[in-house]
Parts: sequence; structure tokens; C-alpha cells
Amino acid sequence: MQVCVYCASSAKIHQDYFNATDLLAKELVKNGFSVVFGGGSLGLMGQLADSVLEAGGNIKGIMPQFMNEVEWGHRGVSDFVYTQTMHERKAKFLEGTDALIALPGGTGTFEELFEAITLKKMGQFTKPIIILNTRNYYNSFIELMNQAVLEKFMAETHQALWTMVNEPTEVVPAILNTPLWEKGLSEAKV
Ligand code: AMP
Repeated sequence: MQVCVYCASSAKIHQDYFNATDLLAKELVKNGFSVVFGGGSLGLMGQLADSVLEAGGNIKGIMPQFMNEVEWGHRGVSDFVYTQTMHERKAKFLEGTDALIALPGGTGTFEELFEAITLKKMGQFTKPIIILNTRNYYNSFIELMNQAVLEKFMAETHQALWTMVNEPTEVVPAILNTPLWEKGLSEAKV
């Protein structure tokens, strides 16, 4: 089983975020998941890689060549794929993954998460998308999505595109318990 984790590059964040990432990494390795991530050495990306490696797990970084040139890559990760563009990188994150996990992050994390949700809504991606709501970071995302449903920009059924959990220990059970989304488009889904 393989998971892709979207997460922050910022290192200036509360220690709780690092602790949750460390715990999640250990849970993933313990449950036999290999991990794909953005390849960065800083922030939650750095913590994720450090903790997966420390626990003896497998981790692969996918990074555009221009980031590699400025040495943003994590030095301890030996398995790296370099892409030409950010777009190509995002597509590769989805290849062969059994689930996506979004940890707290900034615009980079948000755009990765929103693209995955949109692809899933279109039936182009069917796997579980789990959002870890450490420190209630994603409460405003839920508010925004509720507003989108209220104003009928989205159907209520679309709120099943993702699963939100509060604790790192809930992520693996959420992956295992989330059914695959229907492939392709159907009238009922839009
Ligand atoms: P952000 O949430 O804005 O910190 O962006 C994190 C996401 O964007 C990661 O999942 C990466 O794919 C990408 N990203 C942004 N900054 C970096 C960086 N310094 N090194 C590697 N990837 C990055």
C-alpha cells in the first residue's frame, strides 16, 4: 500500500504539527504503507521524511528539477523522482497511490488538496482523501465547503469526497474504511 502525503514546507509552525506528523509517519510505517511526498527538507515535509526513515519505512520524494537545483530536497531520502514542472509533479503524486493524506499546510498544500478533490469529483481519481485536522486547522475549510453546499455550488454528497479526522491514529482506519469513489462521471454525481 502506498500513500501520498501533502504537507507544509514552513518550519515556523507550532510544535503540535510536528508531533502529529511524527506520529502519523510511525502509524503509516507500522501499517505497512510506503510514503510519497514533495521531497522537501523543511517543515512538515522534513519531519515526515525524518520520521518515516527513523521508523525504517520507505519514502519517495517527487520534486521539480528547479527545486532540486536550489537543494530543497531532503538529504536523507534516496528515492527521488525529478519532474520538469509542478503540474507533472502533482500528476505523479497520484500515480499508484492508494490514498492521499493532507496535513496542515499553506497554498502548496491547498492546491494539491483541491486538485485531488476536484479530480475525484470528476471521477478521475477514486481513492480516499484524508484530511488531518490538527489544531482544528481545517475548520475554516469545512466552513467554506458548507457555504459552497448552502449556496448550491456543490451537492451535499460531495462532502463525502474527503474524510476529516482529528488525530494521527485515526488516519489509517479512515483510509481502510473509506469506499472508493465511482469512476467516471454520472448524472447523479454532478
Ligand atoms: P505549502 O503548503 O505552501 O508549504 O506547500 C507545500 C506543498 O507544496 C508540498 O506538498 C510541496 O509539494 C510543495 N512545496 C512548496 N514549497 C516546497 C519546498 N520548499 N520544497 C518542496 N516542496 C515544496
